Amino acid sequence: MRELSRFAHAFDLGEHVALWHSLRMKPVFIERGLYELLQNGECSEELERELIDKKIFLSYEGEDEQIISRLRQNAPQPDVNLAYFILSEHCNLACKYCFVGSDACGQGISSTKDMTPEIAEKALDVFARQLEQSSEDYTEYESNIIFFGGEPLLKFDVLEYVARRVKELSESRPVLRNTSLAVITNGTLLNEERILKLDAMGVAVSISIDGFTEQANSMRVDKQGNETFERVVQVLETYKRLEVDPPSLSVTLTERTIEDLPSMLKLVRDYGVRGFGYNVLLKREDEDGGEYYEAASQFIIDSFLALREHGVYEDRIMRKLNAFAHSRVHFSDCGATSGGQILFAPDGRIGICQGLMSESENYVADIWDDDFIANEHPAWKAWSGLTAIHNDECLSCEALGICGGGCPVNARLLHPELGLHCIDERSCVHSKKTLEFLIRDLYECALADSDYTR
Ligand code: SF4
Ligand code: SF4
Repeated sequence: MRELSRFAHAFDLGEHVALWHSLRMKPVFIERGLYELLQNGECSEELERELIDKKIFLSYEGEDEQIISRLRQNAPQPDVNLAYFILSEHCNLACKYCFVGSDACGQGISSTKDMTPEIAEKALDVFARQLEQSSEDYTEYESNIIFFGGEPLLKFDVLEYVARRVKELSESRPVLRNTSLAVITNGTLLNEERILKLDAMGVAVSISIDGFTEQANSMRVDKQGNETFERVVQVLETYKRLEVDPPSLSVTLTERTIEDLPSMLKLVRDYGVRGFGYNVLLKREDEDGGEYYEAASQFIIDSFLALREHGVYEDRIMRKLNAFAHSRVHFSDCGATSGGQILFAPDGRIGICQGLMSESENYVADIWDDDFIANEHPAWKAWSGLTAIHNDECLSCEALGICGGGCPVNARLLHPELGLHCIDERSCVHSKKTLEFLIRDLYECALADSDYTR
């Protein structure tokens, strides 16, 4: 019998077993009896052909090494198409866990904490230059600007300025024609006038919350210690009254939140929330995160099943689902590890990852360097290598093809001694659990089609 690929894995599905190559990503469902024969070296010619086709059996010596080396060679190279504009490092709230924005807890990040129109103008010029020298044609493909903070709406005037200039400049710099704009905000500074303006400027809004009730948001307080969730609900009410497309919600999955799927569905029903992005909490080394990570991953799967009935999708699981559905390797889970993003600090420094905006080493250039090209910079090249495909430790993992490698900044928080080159354990639980769910989901569909399984 042929030799098994090192990327082959088996999933126990009860009466059947799914055989799976973590990079080819096309499961083969076989009866348990056949699987047992296979383990004893017996296999029909037909099954052997199929297992060779799905790369589960090697068709020649050295095939595995060739697959991984080709994949690494063809992995995406740095190609900036996303810019974070940190409009302000100040924040109007004082969330109890915040490491960035509030004056109370995020002191001294940089000497200039608010972006000026002059800095924004120059940053826009630098961003357009990145798009212009890209191998992609951004007059055709989309690029993105995300307004971030602190609380970016504290500099609403600069946000408006950038939105206007993107439109004006797209005449002379056509790469900006397909630039989408979005803001990630705590939502408390949104009012009727701003909602209408953002809508008119085509700026998508994502509001950060910790859950779907006031209790779940008890850490999100203003500087006087008042809770803020009710203000967010009022904002959602305003969107509904104005009949403007509702914002999406960026939700930190606290222990309380993952037990409360019904309250999330209520928000979807009441306010037509159109999208979710989930952030899994990071547990310290002295905390046992295992149970929490399992439960948070299960919540993401359960909410995916519940939300898809409403036509609402969550980013994190959709990225993995797309990789699985198209049998296409998902290289990277964020703009930084794909080498695709650039970060502009309020004072004009240029960095890569917003999770490191308070660390001066994250800034490797500034907007006054007229020769700066991120795609050629060693830092962007190094970041684009921080993916699962490039990590030898990940090669034996069943979720290799759908994973994307998680967030190296989170990984480093748990293992500072390893720097950015270690595994994001929090993301591992999610990737593996999601893969198991996707294979089982497909199996249940396959069961309905008796030709599909053996
Ligand atoms: S590395 Fe982590 S913190 Fe940085 S952009 Fe990616 S996901 Fe965000
Ligand atoms: S990061 Fe974790 S889940 Fe992803 S491929 Fe590596 S070991 Fe697997």
